Amino acid sequence: MAKLAINGGDITRTTLFPAYNTIGQEEKDAVMKVLETGNLSQFLGAYHNDFLGGPNVREFESKWAKALGVKHAVSVNSNTSGLFTAMGAIGIQPGDEVIVSPYSMSASAIAPLLYGGIPVFADIDPVTFCMAPESIESRITSRTKAILVVHIFGHPANMDLIMAIAKKHNLIVIEDCAQAPMAKYKGKYVGTIGDLGIFSLNYHKHIHTGEGGVITSNNDDLIDRCQMIRNHAENVVGPKGIEDLTNMIGFNFRMTEIECAIGIQQLAKLPDLLAERLENVAFLNEHLSKFSALELQPHPEKGSVHTYYVHPIKFNKEIAGIDRDTFVNALKAELPSAILRETAPLIGMGYVKPLYLQPIYQQRAGWAFNHPAADQKSINYTPGLCPIAEKMHFEVLFTHEFMRPGMSTEDLLDVVSAFQKIFDNIDELKSVETRA
Ligand SMILES: *Cc1c(COP(=O)(O)O)cnc(C)c1O
Repeated sequence: MAKLAINGGDITRTTLFPAYNTIGQEEKDAVMKVLETGNLSQFLGAYHNDFLGGPNVREFESKWAKALGVKHAVSVNSNTSGLFTAMGAIGIQPGDEVIVSPYSMSASAIAPLLYGGIPVFADIDPVTFCMAPESIESRITSRTKAILVVHIFGHPANMDLIMAIAKKHNLIVIEDCAQAPMAKYKGKYVGTIGDLGIFSLNYHKHIHTGEGGVITSNNDDLIDRCQMIRNHAENVVGPKGIEDLTNMIGFNFRMTEIECAIGIQQLAKLPDLLAERLENVAFLNEHLSKFSALELQPHPEKGSVHTYYVHPIKFNKEIAGIDRDTFVNALKAELPSAILRETAPLIGMGYVKPLYLQPIYQQRAGWAFNHPAADQKSINYTPGLCPIAEKMHFEVLFTHEFMRPGMSTEDLLDVVSAFQKIFDNIDELKSVETRA
C-alpha cells in the first residue's frame, strides 16, 4: 500500500502552518497617529519645502540610512519604481547596455528598457546564484554603462570582484537588494557598496508597507537626481538651476505618510525577524544535511550575512534516482499551506525561468530593441545563453519558505519529517522500469 501522500497515503501534517505576519499593534498605533493628523501625504511636486515629503517620509528615510550606515535613503513606492529611478538617475540613454542577471524577479532586467537601454544577460554562479563576475566581464562592450547586481535570495553577490570590474571599465554598479535587507558582504551592508542600492517593501518581502521601496546611496548627485525623478523633476529643474536635463522627466513614485509610518515600525523589527529566520535556516540545514541528494547552500564568506528570502536547495537526481519535479511534487503533497494568502505549500521549483526566455526578449518587443543606437550584436537572447541559470531553473534548484519567523521547532520538525518520509519511500516515486 502506498505510503506517500501523492500516491494516496496519509499526509505528514494536516494542520496549517503559522502565517508570516509582521504587522502588529505598533503598526496599528502608528497608522492611527497619522490618520488623526488628517495629513496622509505632504509631498509637493514643486521646488518647495515639501518637495521631499512630510515628517514620516523623512523620519523613515533617515532611520533607514542610519540602520545601514549609508549617507542617503530615498523612499519610492516600489523596488520596481526604484530601479526605473536608478536607470534615469545614472543617465541611461538609447543603446546603452546594462548587464543584468537572468535569474531574478523580472523588474531587475526590464528597468533599462524604460530609457531605451538594452539588458544584457550574464550567467550566474552555481553556488551563490548571483551573477558570476567572469560572465559579467565577458559581456562588456563599448556601450556598457552599468552592472545591475541582484543579491538573489539574500545571498550577497561577489562585490569585491564586481566593483573591481566596474572600476576597470568605468561602469556604474546598482544593487537590487529586494531580497536582501540587512544582508552583508564582508562586513558591509548590501546597498551601500555600489553606486545605488534598491530595496523592496512589498508584501512578500522580509518587512513591508504593502507596497514600497527604498533607494540608498553615498553619492549626493545621484540622490538629488533620484529625488527629482521620484517627484516631477520637470517642475524642479528650472527653479533649482539644474543644467543636465538628461532623463529629468519626473514620475510620481512617492510613498505616503501612512506607509512610511508603518515602515518605521517594520524597520525596527527587522533585526529580530532576520535573527529568527537565520536560526530556522540553521535548524533546517542541520536536519536536511543528512540527505545526500540535497545540496544546501554553503554559508557566505566570513563577515557576510545571507538573509534567506527563500531557502534554496539543489537536488541531485543521480543520487536520488528521481527527478527534481517528481520529488518536489511529492513534498508538496506531504505538507499543508500556511494560513495567510497561500493556497499551496510555499515550495517553488526552479525559481524564475531565465528572463531572456520571456516573450518580451524573444520577440524583441519594444522600441529600445529597434532603436538605431542599439547594437544588434549585443541583443542576444538565444536559449542556452546562460547555461547555469537554465540548469538551475529546469533541473536542479528548488526553494521553500518554511524558515519564516513564526515557525516553532515542532513545525520545523514536521517539515523535516516530510523530507524523511519521501527519502524512506523513494521507490514509490521511481518509474516501473527503473525500479525493476
Ligand atoms: C520583489 C522584487 C522586486 C520588485 O519589488 P517591488 O517592490 O514589488 O517592485 C525586484 N527585484 C527583486 C529581486 C525582487 O525580489
